[in-house]
Amino acid sequence: MVDADTATAYLALGSNLEDPPRQIRRAIQAIRRLPGTRVVADSGLYSSKPLVPPSGAIAQADYYNAVVVVKTSLDPYDLLARLQQIETDQGRVRTRHWGPRTIDLDMLMFDDLCLDDPRLTLPHPGIAQREFVLYPLHRIDDSLEIPGRGMLSELIRNCSENGLQYLGAIESDEA
Ligand code: AMP
Repeated sequence: MVDADTATAYLALGSNLEDPPRQIRRAIQAIRRLPGTRVVADSGLYSSKPLVPPSGAIAQADYYNAVVVVKTSLDPYDLLARLQQIETDQGRVRTRHWGPRTIDLDMLMFDDLCLDDPRLTLPHPGIAQREFVLYPLHRIDDSLEIPGRGMLSELIRNCSENGLQYLGAIESDEA
């Protein structure tokens, strides 16, 4: 049971290694088990094309993505540390910054908090450019406002889908 004094956080999940849909479901299951935390909505599953780093494309598989909304009594840094622990538990080894990964968990927003800290930047610095974040967010709440960035509906207008595909619901018996 989460008490009334909770924050709303939006979390992005991404994977392109070792059965990515399963990695996403595992991570959601782990998020559900965090103390004082409840998953209240999810975007369903998407597939997306890998980001192309400034140095040029890396040959790697397409990504699977989802966004979940949590109500949590954890503070943002505690939530971040627990998300990083889930990444480690699912075998994420930090090798190359733009390279493939079993699971990547990003905190997109935490209430309307704006933080300019390299350890935790909020809203997430890539939020306004990434189709695999904006479109799933829009499926969850098309009237969302991103703190300091404006209305989601405006941001999405300037962001092409770039091959993003909606794959359907994340089955609750698997999540
Ligand atoms: P990445 O390789 O994209 O998972 O980046 C991980 C690094 O970004 C970690 O050192 C985090 O402390 C830092 N970071 C900064 N802001 C955020 C955020 N909003 N969500 C997740 N990681 C963040």
